[in-house]
Amino acid sequence: MLELKHIKKYYQVGDTLTKAQDDVSVAFRKQEFVAILGPSGSGKTTMLNIIGGLDRYDSGDLLIKGKSTKDFKDADWDAYRNNSVGFIFQSYNLISHLSIIQNVEMGMTLSGVASAEKRQRAEDALIRVGLKDHMHKQPSQLSGGQMQRVAIARAIANDPEILLADEPTGALDSETSEEIMQLIKELSQERLVIMVTHNPDLAHKYADRVIEFADGRIQHDSHPHVEGTKSDQFNLKRTKMSYFTALNLSFNNIRTKKGRTFLTVFASSIGIIGIAVVLALSNGFQKQINQTQSEAMASMPVTISQVGSDNTAMTGTSQKSFSKADQVTAKTSAADKAQHVNKLSDAYLDYVEKMPAKDAKNIAVSYGTGMNLMREVDGKYKTVSFSNSNPDSTTFNASAMLASTTGVGGSIYPIDRDGKQSFLKTYYKTIAGKYPTKATDLVLVVNKDNSININALKNLGFNVKENEHFDYDQLVGTQIKLVANDDYYTKLPTGTYIPSQKLDDLAAKPKTQTLTITGIVRVKSKNSDGLLAAGVAYSSKLTEMVLNENKDSAIVTAQKASATNVMTGQTMDASTKASVLTVLGGSSTPSSIQIYPTTFKLKDKVLSYLDKWNKGKDKADKVIYTDLAGTVSDMTGGLMDAITYVLVAFAGISLVTSMIMIAIITYTSVLERTKEIGVLKALGARKKDITRVFDAETFILGFGAGLFGIFVAWLLTFPINIVLENVTGLAGVAVLNPVHAIVLVIISTILTLLGGHVPARMAAKKDAAVALRAE
Ligand code: ADP
Ligand code: MG
Repeated sequence: MLELKHIKKYYQVGDTLTKAQDDVSVAFRKQEFVAILGPSGSGKTTMLNIIGGLDRYDSGDLLIKGKSTKDFKDADWDAYRNNSVGFIFQSYNLISHLSIIQNVEMGMTLSGVASAEKRQRAEDALIRVGLKDHMHKQPSQLSGGQMQRVAIARAIANDPEILLADEPTGALDSETSEEIMQLIKELSQERLVIMVTHNPDLAHKYADRVIEFADGRIQHDSHPHVEGTKSDQFNLKRTKMSYFTALNLSFNNIRTKKGRTFLTVFASSIGIIGIAVVLALSNGFQKQINQTQSEAMASMPVTISQVGSDNTAMTGTSQKSFSKADQVTAKTSAADKAQHVNKLSDAYLDYVEKMPAKDAKNIAVSYGTGMNLMREVDGKYKTVSFSNSNPDSTTFNASAMLASTTGVGGSIYPIDRDGKQSFLKTYYKTIAGKYPTKATDLVLVVNKDNSININALKNLGFNVKENEHFDYDQLVGTQIKLVANDDYYTKLPTGTYIPSQKLDDLAAKPKTQTLTITGIVRVKSKNSDGLLAAGVAYSSKLTEMVLNENKDSAIVTAQKASATNVMTGQTMDASTKASVLTVLGGSSTPSSIQIYPTTFKLKDKVLSYLDKWNKGKDKADKVIYTDLAGTVSDMTGGLMDAITYVLVAFAGISLVTSMIMIAIITYTSVLERTKEIGVLKALGARKKDITRVFDAETFILGFGAGLFGIFVAWLLTFPINIVLENVTGLAGVAVLNPVHAIVLVIISTILTLLGGHVPARMAAKKDAAVALRAE
């Protein structure tokens, strides 16, 4: 069955050489009860450990069923211990944080026996050793004799062919010793039992064969055996601990040390708490800053008008001294000199439209185009307009003079470059009706106090008195007809064009469109009041629609060909003619372009994009913009970033500190559990399995610390927000981003795993024989 051939094992400590095994040759039968007697330090334990595969021999050979073990790999030894050998120790070596039944199951757990079978076999083994009534106790609730019975049950649960017992009764009184010997004797009926003892009486009373050992050598053998040369098939089933077993083992261990675990988790989570709170705060502040900035940008867009002012031309014009001349000189004023006509060509418009969408989400293009508008009031159509100016005023009204074209006016709200409606939705809420969706949808913009310019309503054809109130539904749903030039203007035989006198007929013309006021909107935040003037607002899509309809109309064609005003017959200069054409819809040149940069920081990108157009161009071809926000700086944003980095760095240091702490705690745990490591190895655990057990423990600690930290940080955001609101008036600043929370838990887990992995590897490398000798 087993044969030791010239086994040697020497220990060199300092100058002393200990010959623990000094050329030992002995063979064992398949079934017998062998007792090994000898004085302390003679090498009995060493021999047992070598036979059990817990310790390696220096030279010689150990034959198992005739098979040499010289070429055994670690995995073979692990499997051999697990499948073929059962160990019983003097000090029982039960794993104290596992229940009795779990202790007995451990060997089978390592070799992956299914849980029902495992439980059955463990119970059978416990019944066999006489512990039927104590099966569900904890190891600490048992007497010495009972604990040794558990250890015996654990050793035989896997039904090994070899049972190795190292002074199994050394710690027991004589009566209990007899019982245990009786049990071992019984078990030796089915297997080879090798028992070390220093009690010659027990040895001679129970054993079939007594070997006397001294100074690392066999002195006497009562019943020697010569092993034949036959070689049995010898198959070993590899062991493997599952991650779940590792986690379970660690979890049980952690559970027995609740106080320490809580302190560890709490201390390790401080770093996470710090980082989470800093991130939550900077998130909130950044959001606040971005909102303030974008509100400011919304009221101060970068504007490109048909006539710009070239500020560079105005410098150096202030007079330095009084003139000594006695004449007067005629000069163009500096402001006039700086006037610059921008050529807002289609190419330029294209260029602006191609600006990166993230820098400027919204661009609003305004045209001077008029619209022929009319509304049915008391059963009759009358002309209306979107203007906010007083319709009764006698002051010069360009659109009224130029033509009876009525629609010039109203505000144009920007629409996103991708057609979405973010501007209105960001800054305005609907207090009645809904947001516009189509080109023909209009909205009424009201002030914070729900007031609206009285002229806007008068121009829309409402008969309205000062301070008159309107219900929302009196305004929402109002329909206005938009008439095409060709229907609106009639050519007289004299060649001049006049607006149609039969407005009622125009409503039914096929080209006539219906515009609808779909909602009433009001600014959301008090900071963004006045982005759009109170009155009618629409998008440039409506103007583009009108332009498309009217650009080739008869009146436009006629006006293009004529030097005089085709409606009044008056002669005009070139610029008046251009204005008339624009109002009639004969010019697609925008009157102004408004660009809304996303933030202050991005405004610089927008400006440099616009500057790039001018590069290398003649002065006349340059396009000059007005930057209303001017030099308002981006200080706040940059400062915020810097503060966040510094704070995160500090919190990061505490995170590293917790990682080191976890490493120390794992190291302590390794030291504490040295015995357990030895037991697990005796049961066939691989190095990897031991690493896994400790990795699992740090995993639980790291994950727990992460979760706990996030939870505390989240709790902290409430008092922090209350304090901040009292101090700064800003509500809900600290908001923990769920993505940050998840990332921090992952970071905590990974860092602690890293910190604990080194001690875990140390644990795995521990020599099993040394580990079991540890006290
Ligand atoms: P026994 O079990 O018969 O009391 P051991 O087999 O435990 O004896 O020890 C045999 C000798 O080997 C002893 O002198 C012991 O000190 C020595 N020894 C055992 N393990 C080691 C070790 N890891 N390092 C050094 N010496 C050891
Ligand atoms: Mg010993």
